[in-house]
Amino acid sequence: MTKTLEVVGTQDQLPDSTSVVIIGGGIVGVTAALALAERNIPVVLVEKGQIGCEQSSRNLGWIRKTSRHLHDVPLAVAADKLWAEMPDRIGRDVGYKQAGIMFLSKTDAQISMQEDWLKSVESLSLDSRMLNAQEVDNLAPGGEGDWLGGLYTPSDGYAEPSIAAPAIAKAAVEKGTVIIQNCALRTLTKTDGKISGVVTEKGEIRCNQVLLAGGAWSRRFLGNLGVSLPTLPLICSVLRTKPMDGPTNIAVGGPDFSFRKHKDGGFIITQRGKLDAPLVLDHLLIGYRYLEQLRTQYSFLQVKIGSPFFKDLGLSRKWGPKGPSPFEKVRVNDPAPNEYLNQQALNNLSNAWPAFKNAEIEESWAGLIDVTPDSNPVIDKIKSIPGLTVATAFSGHGFGTGPAAGQLAADLISNVEPIIDPSPYRFDRL
Ligand SMILES: Cc1cc2nc3c(=O)[nH]c(=O)nc-3n(C[C@H](O)[C@H](O)[C@H](O)COP(=O)(O)OP(=O)(O)OC[C@H]3O[C@@H](n4cnc5c(N)ncnc54)[C@H](O)[C@@H]3O)c2cc1C
Repeated sequence: MTKTLEVVGTQDQLPDSTSVVIIGGGIVGVTAALALAERNIPVVLVEKGQIGCEQSSRNLGWIRKTSRHLHDVPLAVAADKLWAEMPDRIGRDVGYKQAGIMFLSKTDAQISMQEDWLKSVESLSLDSRMLNAQEVDNLAPGGEGDWLGGLYTPSDGYAEPSIAAPAIAKAAVEKGTVIIQNCALRTLTKTDGKISGVVTEKGEIRCNQVLLAGGAWSRRFLGNLGVSLPTLPLICSVLRTKPMDGPTNIAVGGPDFSFRKHKDGGFIITQRGKLDAPLVLDHLLIGYRYLEQLRTQYSFLQVKIGSPFFKDLGLSRKWGPKGPSPFEKVRVNDPAPNEYLNQQALNNLSNAWPAFKNAEIEESWAGLIDVTPDSNPVIDKIKSIPGLTVATAFSGHGFGTGPAAGQLAADLISNVEPIIDPSPYRFDRL
């Protein structure tokens, strides 16, 4: 993971009881904790590794409405407001900048896909608009990319993943949340069919509500309880350059690279056109549900069979409260970055903007993404387990919407008017 991830202080002593236990200290878990704590609801957040150690510190930091599915845009609009208010709300910087996001097009087919998206969100009055080649050049000068144009949303932006979840977690603690790190939550306990507590590797906590915000682990956690959440893993590799002069502060996505300015003055770069798909048993079990997505969205996957298959096979799918559970066996999921893809991304970007020819790489990492068959998350109560709410499976785009997703989960738990209509995120649609 990135070496710049901020560390949050932890408590070792488990409280005997609380109202809500949150599983997972990613962006979704910590923002839900903050929202609940602000409502004076007692919360304990349990994280098997370190706050932000998996997807929420490894992502690119993009906060975008652009190119989202129509039904997912209201969550992104709600999140924009929460990101903008966050520094005042928590008294800390999260690196939020409304610097804009621009996706570039080289072919007529790419332009017409962007125009189709723009048409699909017409009713939402976003500030997104098409750009011609000259406008692309004005916004990001010095390029040699032969772009036909692009799609630009000035009100999009980014925050810094290495500081955001930790900063929000620290504020949640100040408002009363108890955070226990290096503590895997194994399973739930029930009384009369309803949740009455949780079992962690450090002991039990009594509670009547649990929020599962376990990222890529949620499928396994729920599977052990007899609930099938369909998600498959993808691995995305990222590099960060040393501080350098670049063409723009706007986050830019080309067909085979993306870049955005990092707070330390370097750039965060990835290969947009390719992702690794490590083959695991779940591909055989639920892979057929992704055929349409494979045809339309993920034709660029690099399918790999190798050690991830056997590592995954070695992790239990059924375990009891005495454990050990898979969550304490893999404290932090830390896949190796694909340096070949990273180098390709940097080469493609250098061809488009020669300023990147002198880029020096400071560090690289990878992260494992949890993707559903329709690429949208689940934020819902699980009817078969009264007391359990889930906010998970963000399918590679949940950092930007994280604060609104966490707040929506908190709204469902505390039975208040939800921040947006939760129906697109129902569990039973899957
Ligand atoms: C390389 C990469 C680039 C991305 N780029 C973007 C982007 O630019 N914009 C965007 O919006 N999104 C992006 N994403 C996706 C985004 O990072 C995720 O959607 C988001 O961070 C998900 O947050 P989360 O809280 O659900 O999961 P996570 O951050 O993964 O947090 C889940 C936590 O739960 C813990 N946990 C799980 N099970 C247990 C258990 N049983 N007991 C205790 N703890 C447990 C895990 O250790 C983990 O820390 C990217 C992802 C990657 C990997």
